[in-house]
Amino acid sequence: MKLIMMGPSGAGKGTHSEILSRKFSIPIVSTGNILREAVKNDTPIGLEARSYMEAGQLVPDDIIIGIVAERLAAPDCANGYILDGVPRTIAQAEAIEAAGIFFDAVLAFDVPDEIILERITGRRTCTKCGRSFHVTANPPKLEGICDGCGGELILRSDDSIDTVKKRLEVFYARTSPLGKFYDDRGVLKKISNQPTIEATSKIVMEALGI
Ligand code: AMP
Repeated sequence: MKLIMMGPSGAGKGTHSEILSRKFSIPIVSTGNILREAVKNDTPIGLEARSYMEAGQLVPDDIIIGIVAERLAAPDCANGYILDGVPRTIAQAEAIEAAGIFFDAVLAFDVPDEIILERITGRRTCTKCGRSFHVTANPPKLEGICDGCGGELILRSDDSIDTVKKRLEVFYARTSPLGKFYDDRGVLKKISNQPTIEATSKIVMEALGI
């Protein structure tokens, strides 16, 4: 199974990626997590990406395309994967397609901006594995500690209101045209916002015919 999770930051891509990853035993490929790790370790990619990320802007396509090509060639991707937060531009989608990669479904999470802003301020992200929680909607068992790996949970530096507003603008300008791109290929599934993670998960499973 090869899936793309599409939607602005805070739309639920990460949460539903984790549910699907456990269900199908396939890895999540999150360019955001890969980039944050690179920034943390001061690698050449991290040094280049940092300023774009802090400003809520997209990291240049050539960097992203390189990261994705390398990650998808890893052995754990042989039986499928979930792309979380990539592609984010038509150029990225075209490069992935040019590599001969096609998807079973592209889940487009449609969540109103006000709800996104509310969710982001309560989001806490693991510094070690990248898993995300929410202080009220999806709290960890122990406050400040990741249920999965025991890492520290923090409010991401680019989860400030101003940066989130910028990321929403960038999403509508650069990423939402991908809806038509994948609809033309017959794989787009729109996931409308639901009040709970369980209700959204049910819609996701129905969209995947499960
Ligand atoms: P995310 O964790 O997916 O919200 O990504 C955090 C930040 O990483 C974004 O705001 C971008 O600056 C950068 N980023 C992640 N994925 C991509 C991508 N596919 N294309 C460009 N920039 C990306």
